[in-house]
This record gives sequence, C-alpha cells and structure tokens, in this order.
Amino acid sequence: MEVGPTGRYIYSDVDLDQHEGEIIEELKAHSQQPLPDPDHWLQGKPERGIMLTSVEAILNWARRSSLWSVVCFPACCSFEFIATAASRHDISRFGMEIIRASPRQADLMITAGTLTWKMAPSVKRIYDQMAEPKWVIAMGACAISGGIFQASYGVTPGYNHIIPVDVYVPGCPPRPEALLYGINMLQNKIAKAEIIKK
Ligand code: SF4
Repeated sequence: MEVGPTGRYIYSDVDLDQHEGEIIEELKAHSQQPLPDPDHWLQGKPERGIMLTSVEAILNWARRSSLWSVVCFPACCSFEFIATAASRHDISRFGMEIIRASPRQADLMITAGTLTWKMAPSVKRIYDQMAEPKWVIAMGACAISGGIFQASYGVTPGYNHIIPVDVYVPGCPPRPEALLYGINMLQNKIAKAEIIKK
C-alpha cells in the first residue's frame, strides 16, 4: 500500500506501476531541461557570493583547524590528555580527533609527562620526523621544568631543553580544560603566523 500524489491510497499493482511510471516521466521531463548557467551567480551582487580574504589567512585557518597530534605520553599527564580526547571534552571539536602513531603524519606534539634523559634522544627523533610546519605544547609541570622530579639526575629540566616549545600548560596534572585552553592559545598563535615573507 502506498499514498498517491493526491493523498489517496494505492492498493493494486496496476495503480502502483502507473504511479511509479508517472514519477519516472516527471523525472525524465525535468532532467531534459537545460541546467542553469554555472556562472550565472556572478551576474548578481558580488557581496552575496564572494568572501575576500588573504591566502595567508586561509592557510592559517586550515592549519589551525586540523592539528594532528603525535603520541608522546611518557607519564601520568597522559591520562588527562586521554580524558581530553574522550567524549566529555571532545577534542574533535577542534579538528584534532586523529592522534597519530607516526610522526610523519603529525604536526603537533603534546608532551604529556616527565621526560627522562634516556628518552630524550627518542623524543628529539620523533620531533625531527614530524612534518613542517610543526608545533609543541608542553603539558604539565614535568614537561615545563621537570616538576617534582626536577632534582633527579635522570630527568630533563623541561622539553624546551630538547625541542622548541610553543605553548606551556601548567599543572600537575593540568585538567582537560587547561589543555583545551592551551590548544586554543596555540590556534590563536597559528592564526597570526606570517607565512608569506615580505
Ligand atoms: S606534571 Fe604531575 S601528573 Fe604530569 S607527569 Fe609530572 S608528576 Fe605526572
């Protein structure tokens, strides 16, 4: 049973075929009409369809809206990062839901945890393998300065002794809201970046 174009119910197979035929014929009639000129909209008022901006602004918008983070979770701050990526805080709102295992597919390193000297060469290698342009967020007291392990002979006094850091997010550990704020700060920094040299 089907409802016909006039609201009546169609019960028989003949009526159903006829109704289907009408729909096909109507579709055929419309498909044979010429398509509108694709450039027609240019004849109208430009302000309706054109947005003027710079190449630099578009590139910065694309870069800041699709930051892909590489896995770098050496210690306990990583659990706050995992919470940030989960549904409650929803990091994918910022185009960041893809956490990459390969540095070659990433442009952001979020250093979630203590960095020991033993691990430092590996972190440096991961950073060097990341695609340009790339950014680093130092997450947590350990990442910023060594934190509570600062006096230890085996802990680096911050990631910025190994790789350049763009944004520092303090806390032990920082809450997901703090990390999201740091990500917003990085996005603002990227938005203001000068790509085209004058
Ligand atoms: S800052 Fe605190 S929570 Fe983060 S890695 Fe260091 S000790 Fe762990």
